[in-house]
Amino acid sequence: MLGLMQDWPLLIHRIIDHAARQHATQEVVTRSVEGPITRTNYAAICQRALKVAQRLVREGVKPGDRVATMAWNTARHLESWYGITGAGAVYHTINPRLFPEQIAWIANHAEDRVIMTDITFVPLLEALAEKLPKVERYIVLTDAAHMPATKLRNAVAYETWLDEADGDFKWLDVEENAAAGLCYTSGTTGNPKGVLYSHRSNVLHSLAASGVDALTIGSTTTILPVVPLFHANSWSIAFSAPMMGAKLVMPGAKLDGASVHEMLSTEKVTCTAGVPTVWLMLLQYMQKEGKTLPDLKRLVVGGSAAPRAMIEAFEKQYGIEVLHAWGMTEMSPLGSLGSMKACTANLQGEALYDVKVKQGYAPFTVEMKITDDHDKELPWDGKTFGRLKVAGPAVAKAYFRVDENILDANGFFDTGDVATIDANGYMQITDRSKDVIKSGGEWISSIDLENLAVGHPDVAEAAVIGIAHPKWDERPLLVIVPKEGRTVSRDAVLEYMQGKIAKWWMPDDVQVVAEIPHTATGKINKVTLRKQFADYRLPG
Ligand code: ADP
Repeated sequence: MLGLMQDWPLLIHRIIDHAARQHATQEVVTRSVEGPITRTNYAAICQRALKVAQRLVREGVKPGDRVATMAWNTARHLESWYGITGAGAVYHTINPRLFPEQIAWIANHAEDRVIMTDITFVPLLEALAEKLPKVERYIVLTDAAHMPATKLRNAVAYETWLDEADGDFKWLDVEENAAAGLCYTSGTTGNPKGVLYSHRSNVLHSLAASGVDALTIGSTTTILPVVPLFHANSWSIAFSAPMMGAKLVMPGAKLDGASVHEMLSTEKVTCTAGVPTVWLMLLQYMQKEGKTLPDLKRLVVGGSAAPRAMIEAFEKQYGIEVLHAWGMTEMSPLGSLGSMKACTANLQGEALYDVKVKQGYAPFTVEMKITDDHDKELPWDGKTFGRLKVAGPAVAKAYFRVDENILDANGFFDTGDVATIDANGYMQITDRSKDVIKSGGEWISSIDLENLAVGHPDVAEAAVIGIAHPKWDERPLLVIVPKEGRTVSRDAVLEYMQGKIAKWWMPDDVQVVAEIPHTATGKINKVTLRKQFADYRLPG
C-alpha cells in the first residue's frame, strides 16, 4: 500500500523559490571581482536566476547540457547555478587552479557548451580556447563597463546578456533524479573523474548539512564560505544558505588572511568554512596584528586534517568553536562532522581535544564502515584501522562517462581513506590508503606524524612520505618548512616528537625545505613530493 502524500520532487529551484518567498530581503554580500562590496538579496537573486535560465534556453541549452562556471564566490556565480539548474541544465564547476591542460581535458570531457567566467580568468581561457572547440559561448560575469576586449568565441558581458531577458520564465521541471551538477576530483594520479550530482542528492545533502550538529545554518546565521564554489560542490553552502535563509557573505577573489578577516569582521559573520591552509593564514594574521573576531561563533575546517595546535589556538585564544569535518567530492561532499554528542559534551581539556582532532561522526544520510582488504568489517574501537567505506543518497555510484563499477558487493564506495572509528562513532582519518607508510607489515599514519610535527613552535608545515627500506619495506621521512624568520633543526623536531608517539613511528630522518608542493585544492601534493625525494636515501 502506498502512502497518500504529495509528490513533490526535490528540485533545486524550490530552494531559491523558498528563499525568495520566506527570506526575500536577507542579504547576499559580495566582495566583487571588480573591487567594491556589493549587496543584493534572495528575492533579487531568484529573479536574476530566472533570467539566466530564460537566457540559456534562448541560447539553445537543453536539459542535461553542461554549462561550466569558472568563477570566484560571488552573488553572480550563485545566481548562475540556480539559473543553470532551473533551465534543466547541469552546472559544471571548473577549478581555475588546475593545470591548463587539465582544464581543457575536463571541459572537453564534460562537453561544456557554455562557459561562465570572471574577468580574472579571461586570459587563461583565451590561451586555452583553441583546445575547446565545443564551447559555443563565453559569458563574462561582469557588466559592459568592465568587459575586457577579448577574442573568446561569442563573448558577452553577463549583465548585457541578462538585460536581454525579462525573467518571465517558468523553471523547467525535470525529475528529481536528473543531473544537476558536475564536479571533477583533482585526480592527482590519472585523469580527473567527474561526479554527477542530482537535484535530489543536492537537496537531501543540503538538509543534512545545515543541521545544528552539522554546519548549523539557520536564518540568523551569517555564513562566509571561503571554500570556493568550484571545490567539492561548495560544501553545500550555495544550497544550505538560501534553503535556511542565512545571510551569505561571498569573499570574491581575495582569500588572504587580511581580506578574509576584514569580511568576517565588517559583516559580523557567525560561521565560516574552509581548508586548513586558509585558517592557518587567518590565524597568523590575527596573531601578528592583534585582531579578534567577536561575532564569529563557528569555524568549519575540512579538506585536509586540521592540526590540533590550530584547533586549540582558535578555541582557547579567540573563543571560536572549531568544527572539524571530513568529506570528498564523491560525497557531495560532507561525510562526517566533529560536533559533540551527549557522551562527549562534558569533556574538558586534553580529552575534549582528543575528540576534536577526529573528523567526527556521520550525519543521517551517510552510512559508514571500516573494512580489511577482504571486505570484512572491523570493530569500532578507536584503534583498529581499515578502509573507510560509505553509502548514502548523496554518495556517487559511478563516475561520469567511466564504465567501471566503483561500489563493493554491498553497495558501499571505498573512499581511499584509511580510518579508525571509536565506540562513540567518531571517525579519525589515519591516512589516504596510498600515503600510509607500510613498515614491517604494520601501518604508520603520515597524517599523525604531520600533525605532531606542526605542533613544534618553529614548524609552519610538515609532510611525511614513505621511503623504501631494505628491511622494513618503508620508513617515514619528515619534510618540514620552518616558520617565517625561524630556523629549526632535525634534532630539535625529533626531540619534540619523542615520547608522543610509538618509538617505531619516529621518522628516520627530517629534511628542511623552503616549500612543500600543493595540489589545486590546496592539499599537500605527495605525488610531487615523492618525486622530489626519488633519489633520497635514508641515513645508515
Ligand atoms: P580532491 O581529491 O579533488 O582534492 P576532495 O575534496 O574530493 O578533493 O578530497 C577528498 C579527500 O580529502 C578525502 O578522501 C580525504 O583524504 C581528504 N580529506 C578531506 N577532509 C579531511 C579531513 N578533515 N582530514 C583529513 N583528510 C581529509
